[in-house]
Amino acid sequence: MTRLSYLHEPGVLDNLAVRYAKNIIYTYTGNILIAINPFQRLPNLVDARTMEKYKGANLGDLDPHVFAIADVSYRQMINEGKSNSILVSGESGAGKTETTKLLMGYLAYLGGRSGTGERTVEQQVLESNPVLEAFGNAKTVRNNNSSRFGKFVEIQFDKSGKISGAAIRTYLLERSRVCQINSPERNYHCFYFLCAAPSEDLKKYKLGDPSLFHYLNQSACIKVDGINDAEEYLATRKAMDTVGITDQEQEAIFRVVAAVLHLGNINFTKGREADSSIIKDDKSRFHLNTAGELLMCDCEKLENALIKREINTPEGVITTTVGPNSATISRDGLAKQIYSRLFDWLVNRINASIGQDPNSNKLIGVLDIYGFESFKTNSFEQLCINFTNEKLQQHFNQNVFKMEQEEYTREQINWSYIEFVDNQDVLDLIERKPGGIIALLDEACMFPKSTHETLSQKLYEKFKNHKRFTKPKLSRTAFTIQHYAGDVTYQSDQFLDKNKDYVVAEHQELLNASKCSFVSGLFPQATEENTKSSKSSIATRFKIQLHELMETLSSTEPHYIRCIKPNSVLKPGIFENTNVLQQLRCSGVLEAIRISCAGYPTRKLFHDFLHRFRVLAPEILKEKNDEKVSCQKVLDKMGLQGYQIGRTKVFLRAGQMADLDARRTEM
Ligand code: ATP
Ligand code: MG
Repeated sequence: MTRLSYLHEPGVLDNLAVRYAKNIIYTYTGNILIAINPFQRLPNLVDARTMEKYKGANLGDLDPHVFAIADVSYRQMINEGKSNSILVSGESGAGKTETTKLLMGYLAYLGGRSGTGERTVEQQVLESNPVLEAFGNAKTVRNNNSSRFGKFVEIQFDKSGKISGAAIRTYLLERSRVCQINSPERNYHCFYFLCAAPSEDLKKYKLGDPSLFHYLNQSACIKVDGINDAEEYLATRKAMDTVGITDQEQEAIFRVVAAVLHLGNINFTKGREADSSIIKDDKSRFHLNTAGELLMCDCEKLENALIKREINTPEGVITTTVGPNSATISRDGLAKQIYSRLFDWLVNRINASIGQDPNSNKLIGVLDIYGFESFKTNSFEQLCINFTNEKLQQHFNQNVFKMEQEEYTREQINWSYIEFVDNQDVLDLIERKPGGIIALLDEACMFPKSTHETLSQKLYEKFKNHKRFTKPKLSRTAFTIQHYAGDVTYQSDQFLDKNKDYVVAEHQELLNASKCSFVSGLFPQATEENTKSSKSSIATRFKIQLHELMETLSSTEPHYIRCIKPNSVLKPGIFENTNVLQQLRCSGVLEAIRISCAGYPTRKLFHDFLHRFRVLAPEILKEKNDEKVSCQKVLDKMGLQGYQIGRTKVFLRAGQMADLDARRTEM
């Protein structure tokens, strides 16, 4: 991209479109790799022979490719002893997860112990993907296999460059999906996989067609093109075997998944007294009992945990009842807690089973995390996601700059500081403690009387002069943040609930007493340690996780892959200009191009420069000068201006390289 003679938005866009039409989906722009989703398997693009070809090749000698990025990371790690990270970003459906899997496959190819046949570390690392996808991915409007969590995989290597361990960290699983979905989306894949299990499993879990279950039949979508649920059930089981989840554990895992479905079918109706509820009918009673059996807890206690509340008063504990609405909310809360703890258990279990290499000090991290989101209505999740992207954007800008600046300094050339938009002020707005949005939200969650209206008033008051924060004219509960990628208006009405992460004491007690050690293990007795962490809000916990991620990233050499979704119909061959342009803006690619154009986007070693352009001035080459002097003379002869000559390289302005190339071919 930086070799284009006209490096502006239409030029960049046209270049990508032309390449995409030829099925060339990868393009470099400076140190960034742009990857456009082909929405089809391209033959020969990612096969074993291609891997072989990229192994050890110099970056730039071969066509742009994700393997080239993985190869550079690996060699930097081996040769310079530096940890590396590869940051993959893009909007939903852009191809982040597929790209991540290609990267992991290539690293396993480079760092694997071939021929051992056993369950190797690299196999376990690769097979963790289908397990996590079964429990953390779902069909959405934007992507049939959308990851509903963020993921950072840290692959550890030993001295000889072989994979010796790995750690997976996940971020912010979307919990609301467990209980609430809209057409044409689906719930998490694992529910449908299990409903398509062999009949003996179905009998054991008292399951049947997905359309029988409230958590699944709220959406008309049950089947997804290209996903065979029955096959995927078996594949998930097999992947679980590989990552070291025992049969017994697998049985418990699916028992819990089934229990969640049965929980969703428990309905309530008004009881005799005011504000009380009873189990609606025999059908609901059946599901209540089944859920209880599957969770191996007392069915009567389960019933009470849903329809009664114990309240601590100065006079002692009193038991009250709740109405059908509250009982339903309680039921959904329980289902979400169980599911999110099951997901965390899986991640921990995979990590324990793959194992960490305590002696490894070199790693390659691969980040697959949600890109910037701006929808018609945006809520708490979007704020967290966009907060993540602000953080990553700052890291990105600083790095693009740092690398440019370091190169200029090394080469001792003159340059003036280039302005760039720093987003520290947005980060402060969100995360400053005290006084940022997250801190104010946490405060509001502590006061029982807070509502989203009082929260919003507080925000309006506090940030009325903040230049990144505005109150939309006609709203009393929404607020707009000016993100680096554009303005996003957030609706605050569910912020308080979504930020709270406490387990109802009755639920905790019930499941902790389960006769199944797996279930009781998901709800361990409260100790000082885990009450502290469970008391913190979702946003604060996420902020801490993000902070740790940034610390890890800043100790590594970063590489950036920006995935682009060429169209919103998820079909091959269609390239929607405005859509792509918007993504290039949001991903910081255009900003990076601007930065690099303000400086010297093309640089060539003296020798390489002379080799390439000797035809332009053969007489100068004959003079047998110092290479540096020869370069200067060639450039003078061509009448170029504004270029610089460093210690070992020629630095050209945007477009100058293309200009020279054009004249070279005229000769
Ligand atoms: P989300 O944020 O929703 O998780 P994502 O960026 O991870 O989205 P993917 O799941 O990786 O998106 O890709 C979406 C779909 O696009 C894939 O299921 C696949 O069909 C197709 N796809 C993506 N990348 C490739 C590729 N390199 N080759 C072939 N198909 C691809
Ligand atoms: Mg994904």
